[in-house]
Amino acid sequence: MCKIGIPRGMFFYDYFPMWKEFFQELGIEIIVSSKTNKEILNSGISSCVDEACLPVKIFHGHVQYLKDKVDYIFIPRIMSIDKMEYCCPKVLGLPDMVRCSIEKLPPIIDTQINLRKSNTKYKKAIYDTGKLLGKDFWEVKKAYKKAEKSYERYTYLLNKGVVPIEAIKIYDKVFKDINYSSRHNELTIMVVGHSYAIYDEYLNMNLVSKLMSNNIKVITPEMINKDKINRYSNKLPKRMFWTHGKKIVGSAFSLIKEQKIDGIIYLSSFGCGMDSVLVDLVERKAIKEEIPFTLLTLDEQTGEAGINTRIEAFIDMMKWRNRDENNISAFR
Ligand code: SF4
Repeated sequence: MCKIGIPRGMFFYDYFPMWKEFFQELGIEIIVSSKTNKEILNSGISSCVDEACLPVKIFHGHVQYLKDKVDYIFIPRIMSIDKMEYCCPKVLGLPDMVRCSIEKLPPIIDTQINLRKSNTKYKKAIYDTGKLLGKDFWEVKKAYKKAEKSYERYTYLLNKGVVPIEAIKIYDKVFKDINYSSRHNELTIMVVGHSYAIYDEYLNMNLVSKLMSNNIKVITPEMINKDKINRYSNKLPKRMFWTHGKKIVGSAFSLIKEQKIDGIIYLSSFGCGMDSVLVDLVERKAIKEEIPFTLLTLDEQTGEAGINTRIEAFIDMMKWRNRDENNISAFR
């Protein structure tokens, strides 16, 4: 049976359930790279160009992990997923970067997703991918329908407040069996940033789990519905044409404005050009509405003490603030 490798990086956390269903329905075995670890990080750093951001370097490490184990590697070229919008240039060129940086690769399936003008090209991209794997139109159509359903179930879970790392594990279950009711949480924190920064547990040193184990409810941009994101991002004086930037800003603005959170942790990756704009927008909004904000920049260091101290201090400050509601730090 043909084997396709799916690197556990970049948009893995956004689309994996859909990709998995599609390929499995076509009778193809999928192999996912292991969770990010020190070897993957180091091989990514040594095989990628120095100028790339950290998530792209880590992605190279995941490709290195897979390259001798599979017949193909799936790296879709996600150019645009919404009308008149784009993804980051490093995402657009990801298959080319990988091809140029890593030797002896199996063929890369770089299905192009470009919905900037219309959705019509999307279906063609899906059918072309199936054709490449020797499947006929009807087989691909059936697999695509199932994949769509799977994606709907996955996004349903996210909208119910399940974080993607958990949703990926449970999305196959019968939904009525899933208990969404949560215990009373002392604080609610929004963790904002790109999905690959929030859900790669090695990269962010288990931030989400650490917060949850401190009885904190965590909200991430993936849990906010698209209409709300559009409504709030439209309040910017200039239209945001990066889809993922719009998601970050719109979701953060909505929770800040509706005063639904006690604080915001922005997870930024070292070398991210987009974040240099987005962090400032979210921070200014948080300061204006008197919501505590902290920025954690993720880099290649692997010591946990620094991040733990920052999280503890941030949580203490919010608890202190809740006890004395008039207390607003001079540094916000
Ligand atoms: S948005 Fe930032 S982190 Fe993501 S690929 Fe682009 S530069 Fe890298």
